[in-house]
Amino acid sequence: MALMTGEQYIESIRKIDMQVYMFGKKVENRVDDPILRPSLNSVRMTYDLAQDPAYDGLMTAIDPDTGKKINRFNNIHRSTDDLIKKVKMQRLLGQQTAACFQRCVGMDAFNAIYSTTFEMDAKNKTHYHDNFVKFMHMVQDNDYTVDGAMTDPKGDRGLAPHAQQDPDLFLHIVERRPDGIVVRGAKAHQTGALNSHWMIIMPTQAMKPEDADYAVSFAVPMDVKNMFMIIGRQSCDTRKLEGSELDVGNSEFGGVEALVVFDDVFIPNEYVFMAGEAEYASMLVERFSGYHRQSYGGCKVGVGDVLIGAAATIADYNGCPKASHIKDKLIEMTHLNETLYCCGIACSAEGKKTASGNFIIDLLLANVCKQNVTRFPYEIVRLAEDIAGGIVVTAPSEKDLRDPKLGKYVEKYLAAAPGVSVENRLRILRLIENLALGTAAVGYRTESMHGAGSPQAQRIMISRQSNLEAKKILAKKIAHVKE
Ligand code: SF4
Ligand code: FE
Repeated sequence: MALMTGEQYIESIRKIDMQVYMFGKKVENRVDDPILRPSLNSVRMTYDLAQDPAYDGLMTAIDPDTGKKINRFNNIHRSTDDLIKKVKMQRLLGQQTAACFQRCVGMDAFNAIYSTTFEMDAKNKTHYHDNFVKFMHMVQDNDYTVDGAMTDPKGDRGLAPHAQQDPDLFLHIVERRPDGIVVRGAKAHQTGALNSHWMIIMPTQAMKPEDADYAVSFAVPMDVKNMFMIIGRQSCDTRKLEGSELDVGNSEFGGVEALVVFDDVFIPNEYVFMAGEAEYASMLVERFSGYHRQSYGGCKVGVGDVLIGAAATIADYNGCPKASHIKDKLIEMTHLNETLYCCGIACSAEGKKTASGNFIIDLLLANVCKQNVTRFPYEIVRLAEDIAGGIVVTAPSEKDLRDPKLGKYVEKYLAAAPGVSVENRLRILRLIENLALGTAAVGYRTESMHGAGSPQAQRIMISRQSNLEAKKILAKKIAHVKE
C-alpha cells in the first residue's frame, strides 16, 4: 500500500472501534470531538508532509529489506544520517504544529525493540526479533501510526513492582497460555494512543528476577478487547468548546493524554517481544528513553521556533522591537533553543551501529539533551511572557471583541503600534498563552520536564555514562600525580 494521505489517515482512525472515555462518559465520535480533534490533526501532519515532494527523503525513507518507500516515523535508523534526519523532521513538525505530533514514540520503540530483541534472541534462542520484524513490515506496508507506551502508574515509588499492595500498578503478565499471554495494568500519559492504529508496550524500568512478569513487551491493536482509555483533562481544554477559534490560540493542533487500561488483555505469541526476560528490561528502557531524549532535541526546538516567532511578533505589535532589552531577550531565547538543537544533532552524529545493524544515538549526549530540555523551555517561556506583558493572561475574549457595545472599547484600549489590528495582537497573545499555560503547555512546558523521563532519570544515566575514572586519569597525568 502507498503512503496514506492525511485524509485517508483520519478515516482509517475513524474506523477503529476504540473505547475512549472523557468527563465520565464514553466518547462516541472521537474523530470530530472538538477537544480531541486538534490532537488528531497533529498526527495528520506526519502524513500530509510525507506527501509533499519538498520533504521527500526527510519525511520518508526506503526500507532496505523491502525496497519500499515508508514514512520515516516507521523507519529503522541505518546510519547517523538517518538519526540526524529524524531530528530535522521533528523540528519541522514542531514548527508546523506547535504541539506534540505523537508519532515519535512508535519510531523510538521500533528502534529500541529492533536491537534489543536481536540481542535477546542471540543469547536465549528466542524468536522475538522475528516477531518484531514481521510486525514492523506490516506497519510499514499499511503506513500505520504506532504509539509507544512505557510509563506505568508505579504506585508507591519506594517499592518494586511485585511488592506493591496492588500488583497491577505496573503492567504485568497474569496468565501464560500456549498461544499467548494475558496482561493487566495500565500505561499513563499516552499522548498518541488515541490517534494510533497499534500500540507497543514496553516495561517502565529495569526489572529484577522477582519482577520477571513485569518485563513484558508486545504490540496490540487499538480495538483489542478489554483495553480502554480515560482522557486526561488539561488546563484549558474546555476553552475549545466555547466556539472561539481565536481564544484557543492554536485551534488546529494539540495533544491529549490518556490513561490506557489493560483489564486482562490477551496478546497472541506473534505480537510478543519480551515475556519475562527481566535481564533485558533495562536495555530496552535505556535505548527507548535514549531515542526519545534525542527526539526532544527536535520537536521541542520546532515548537520553540514558533514561540520565539510569537514573542518577536508581539514585540513588533507592541511597538518596541528596537528596545535593546527586547532584542537581547530574543537572542537569549534563540541561544537556548539552538543549544537544544545542537544536543539533538550531536547525539545523532555520534551514533553507533548496534549488533542488529541499526543505529543508536550516543546515550550520554542524548541524556544531556533531555536534561537541558527540562530547563531551557521554562526560560524561553519566561522570556516570552516577559516580552508579551501581563495582557497575555488578562486579555478580553473574542466575544467581547465582536460585541456591538464592548467591541469598540476593546479596539480602543488594546490598540498598540500604529497599523496593528487588535485582532492580530490578540491572536498572537493567545498563541503565547496557549504555549505557556494552555493545552499546548502540556506538550511544551511541563512535557519538557517529564516527557521521555523526569530530570532525575537523565541524571542517573549521565552518572552511568560519565566515565569519571578516565577523567581522573587525565587530571592526574597533567598534574604529574604519582600514586
Ligand atoms: Fe514526538 Fe515530541 Fe511528542 Fe515525544 S513529545 S511524541 S518527541 S512530538
Ligand atoms: Fe513526549
